[in-house]
Amino acid sequence: MTVLPPSQKALVPFVSVGNMMRFIHHVGIERMLIDLADYIEADFRRWPQFDKTPRVASHSEIGVIELMPTSDGVSYGFKYVNGHPGNTKSGLQTVTAFGLLANVETGYPVLLTEMTVLTAMRTAAMSALAAKYLAPKGAHTMAMIGNGAQSEFQSLAMKAVVGLKSVRLYDIDRAASEKAAKNLRGHGLNVTICDSAEDSMEGAQIITTCTADKQYATILSDNMVGPGVHINAIGGDCPGKTELAPAILHRSDIFVEYPEQTRIEGEIQQLGPDHPVTELWQVIEGTAPGRRHADQITLFDSVGFAIEDFSALRYVRDHVRETGCFEDVDLLADPDDPRDLFGMLQRAAP
Ligand code: NAD
Repeated sequence: MTVLPPSQKALVPFVSVGNMMRFIHHVGIERMLIDLADYIEADFRRWPQFDKTPRVASHSEIGVIELMPTSDGVSYGFKYVNGHPGNTKSGLQTVTAFGLLANVETGYPVLLTEMTVLTAMRTAAMSALAAKYLAPKGAHTMAMIGNGAQSEFQSLAMKAVVGLKSVRLYDIDRAASEKAAKNLRGHGLNVTICDSAEDSMEGAQIITTCTADKQYATILSDNMVGPGVHINAIGGDCPGKTELAPAILHRSDIFVEYPEQTRIEGEIQQLGPDHPVTELWQVIEGTAPGRRHADQITLFDSVGFAIEDFSALRYVRDHVRETGCFEDVDLLADPDDPRDLFGMLQRAAP
């Protein structure tokens, strides 16, 4: 058998979960959250350059599996991601993901990476970027409702990007809050575990809802939300899966990533199809207003959009090489004569 080693052009850098964690620690968690927010901001400023489509979702009774593609004409990226709220009962994650970035000119992949940890980082960076434009100036306290996998990332991104000082944790499962409080120890935030969602919102200028339940849930009811706050609603991200009472939506100015996707998946699926929303990229670009006055309730109806994953993939591609936190994988068949794929297979016969 004459199997030649794969040529350099056939090798694709692969970032495993272990290497992603090494990479994040090499950069520093908060440094990377700031950098990711900058990468997302840069891509939101050139929004019209991107191919955009609502993600392709395959729903089942218990969860969803989604593909999230986009391209800026130079690079193409996609993420595979699931959402299974019942998974944690059997020791599995609610959300897992991996993704790929490719060169549009050749179609060859240039990066294959785990994206479960990277999604938590990019989702937190996205929340913080939205809060930078929408939260009241000088916001220092956040209610963090739902203390699962995303919660520490959300808290640290708000600290790194917005200057958050205190986080007030609430989860229906106190063990989740205790886990989050323990993980956040030593990261420079004042952390309080609260007994109810109402209690967590005491003195908070930012309210993050990040729960997982495949139903129309009411994590926040209308009377719980006072004027002037910024709501960062993360957990309502699927048809039939929301967190806010509709009355709150009617009192809020609503900001979204990509309306075509958010109207299917976000809190605004509870509203009519013409209810006005503002696209966040326009606020960032300066063509639409963000927060206009102190009493306004701003709501970032986050569902997670492909361009944010593209930004995260771009960041990893740009920075992982210098750290060595990757391995090359033999992902692409690369016969010496591009048309002799069969010959290559035949030469590999035992
Ligand atoms: P997780 O399962 O690890 O944590 C969810 C937590 O919510 C659990 O600790 C659970 O006990 C708690 N919870 C459930 N109902 C609650 C209630 N009524 N009040 C308070 N707490 C409650 O999930 P995760 O990975 O942290 O994800 C949280 C949510 O965020 C999911 O719905 C997920 O789909 C969504 N998500 C959104 C984005 C985005 O870009 N918008 C990205 C990632 C995850």
